[in-house]
Amino acid sequence: MTRLDDRSGRPLRNLRLSVTDRCNLRCHYCMPEEEYAWLPRQEILHFGEVAALVDVFVGLGVDKVRLTGGEPLLRRELPRLVRMLAAKPGLRDLAITTNGVLLGDQAQALRDAGLGRVTVSLDTLRAERFAALTRRTTHAEVLAGIRAAVRAGFSGLKLDTVVIRGVNDDELDELVEFAKATSAEIRFIEYMDVGGATRWSMDQVVSRQEMLAVLARRYGRIEPIIEESSAPAVRYRLADGTIFGIIASTTQPFCARCDRSRLTADGTWYLCLYAREGVDLRGPFRAGASPEELGALITGRWRTRADRGAEERLALRAREPLLRVGELRTDPRLEMHTRGG
Ligand code: SAM
Ligand code: SF4
Ligand code: SF4
Repeated sequence: MTRLDDRSGRPLRNLRLSVTDRCNLRCHYCMPEEEYAWLPRQEILHFGEVAALVDVFVGLGVDKVRLTGGEPLLRRELPRLVRMLAAKPGLRDLAITTNGVLLGDQAQALRDAGLGRVTVSLDTLRAERFAALTRRTTHAEVLAGIRAAVRAGFSGLKLDTVVIRGVNDDELDELVEFAKATSAEIRFIEYMDVGGATRWSMDQVVSRQEMLAVLARRYGRIEPIIEESSAPAVRYRLADGTIFGIIASTTQPFCARCDRSRLTADGTWYLCLYAREGVDLRGPFRAGASPEELGALITGRWRTRADRGAEERLALRAREPLLRVGELRTDPRLEMHTRGG
């Protein structure tokens, strides 16, 4: 198997593929503003272009692709793209991260098209809280979407919760119980200061240590699961066997083993979630660059990669949101909802 390493020996393996920068929610930690600058429509890659670029990445060692956005299910005919990607023998894992709102309608079609795994973002079990957090009233649709994913036969369903102090940090045990009842694995994510999180502050971050302490009060002994993995979540087991994960992206970042990069819907490739600059792949692709030429471009950039964005942020003493609204307006690619999280 091909292996392309960066300067710290981290392989190019995991690609997060954002298929749209549009979203049908306005999560407070991701899209808190009233207005946004969007990627120009003519710059959005067609499915054939996406599939051709994925081929180049697979040729260089990528074997995991996660579809994301914005909200990926807003991209028209997404199952058609899934079918194209699922047919690639080099791809071991094809997954999606979705807010679930449209999953009720699409889960079966995605499964039939060959999608392997689904992660649904679920920050709260309370409809009024969801409305306050997302500025939309579609909580029931999200829950229906989760049920539809189970019905469609997706095993290994994951639920992702961004935990924010004073917002949903009193729901950890309820979310664990909900996941257990749904046969899903829940992962709690620390609130990050990146992209559109312009209202972020350190005092709203609930650290992994704190989450574990809260859960231990309710469940007793929590056993860490020791595993060799580049996955960002550290997993834990409760006494009754329930497994959950915590992604400590803010207080204990996992840059040292980070094998992920991100391709935006307009074909800009980012080597780190925190990177200011990306590599334009759409330009060369549309100008007729061959797969070999694109491969050489990607290889050259990955070999010199030294990014450790979250670790660098952690080393700062006084910490504010990474970006200001004015900067985000100048380049929509700086947004989390464009990079795909
Ligand atoms: N719209 C889809 C969704 O929400 O699942 C996919 C895209 S979203 C950008 C991907 C992930 O990023 C979601 O799980 C979301 O909760 C997470 N995310 C967005 N902003 C975040 C922040 N400031 N801190 C931590 N996670 C964040
Ligand atoms: Fe929320 Fe995902 Fe939309 Fe961001 S992209 S606002 S996290 S649903
Ligand atoms: Fe990887 Fe950058 Fe995230 Fe660190 S901050 S884990 S290097 S994407």
